[in-house]
Amino acid sequence: MIDLRRYADREHLLLASYAMHSRDTGGRVHSEVSHPYRGPFARDRDRILHSSAFRRLSGKMQVFTGEMGIYHRTRLTHTFEVASVARTMARVLRLNEDLTEALALMHDIGHPPFGHCGEDVLSHCMESVGGFSHNGFALVIVEQLEQRYASFPGLNLSRETLAGQDVRAHKAEAAVGRSPVLEVQLVDAADSIAYDAHDVDDALQMGLLSIEELSELAVIRRALERTRGRHGLLPKSQLRQLLVHELIDLQVGDLLEQAVEALRPFAGHDTASVSEAGLRFCHSDAIGFERRELESFLFNAVYRHERLIPVRRAASDRLETMFRVLVQNPSRMPLRFRQRAESNPIESVVGEYIAGMTDAFCDTQFGYAVESSTGPLADW
Ligand code: MG
Repeated sequence: MIDLRRYADREHLLLASYAMHSRDTGGRVHSEVSHPYRGPFARDRDRILHSSAFRRLSGKMQVFTGEMGIYHRTRLTHTFEVASVARTMARVLRLNEDLTEALALMHDIGHPPFGHCGEDVLSHCMESVGGFSHNGFALVIVEQLEQRYASFPGLNLSRETLAGQDVRAHKAEAAVGRSPVLEVQLVDAADSIAYDAHDVDDALQMGLLSIEELSELAVIRRALERTRGRHGLLPKSQLRQLLVHELIDLQVGDLLEQAVEALRPFAGHDTASVSEAGLRFCHSDAIGFERRELESFLFNAVYRHERLIPVRRAASDRLETMFRVLVQNPSRMPLRFRQRAESNPIESVVGEYIAGMTDAFCDTQFGYAVESSTGPLADW
């Protein structure tokens, strides 16, 4: 008899056959007894939520702007927006919401301070050790750097949750052949839907762009038409919020419509057969084209905006200087990282230490690193 207090029964009743079911998990590296009422992916989600790397997302700006106001997204609020969009889609498609949420909450925890310029600086400084990738670093955090259990390092997440992040870290190789598990694909789609929409919102609020400039883009005109259809003519302050809402809603609606059609032939099939068939969620041709147009517009008009360039240059210089100081003086790193440097290249360890910092913590440690010549910097 079905007992809805049991997660396996709930999943059996609610999830599609091709969803990742908790009963099929490959377990954890360090075996643990199962929990009486939380499934393995719900536990993963909670472990990520309670990790210190997750809390530090609140101190990392999504698009690094220095001191330009307090309206715009941090990586934490971005992460919650991604989780919300991804969970909504997972529910409609009857995929595993717990796994989707775990992957969404984890997806950005490897980001260094100072937005994309932080990643660029670390990639450049770490060339001799293969560069830097925030997706790869997220795995180092959850498998090695988080300290929660006495008998092993890391969070000991389920293999499927780790594999989902691993796919993100090796996106280029994963682009052919077998497709990633559907829950991973949803998080990817939700990530780009959320950041396109909130970058529009943040850029409008900061005055980097105007609605008139954005109206050159087909997807913006589409969203504005829907807004006018629902609410008539509105003052600009209200229009911005509703535009962002419509941008998300129309992209989510489009992706879901396409996904429902793509999944139809797989009714009754399992996760592996959908993967082997190479099924990939994608937008309709029209929305796909309009999204690419929006993204290249945002890249030039926002990420390369002249007001942001000097702020980023200064942040990049601070990071690069700190990286050099620490590579030359490993004794300035906290104990945990000095120990890691005994068995790892110094460039990797300095990169890990810096990548884990928040924007403000990085600035404070930069001050100590260049102004005083002795004593280790603080651990995070
Ligand atoms: Mg993201």
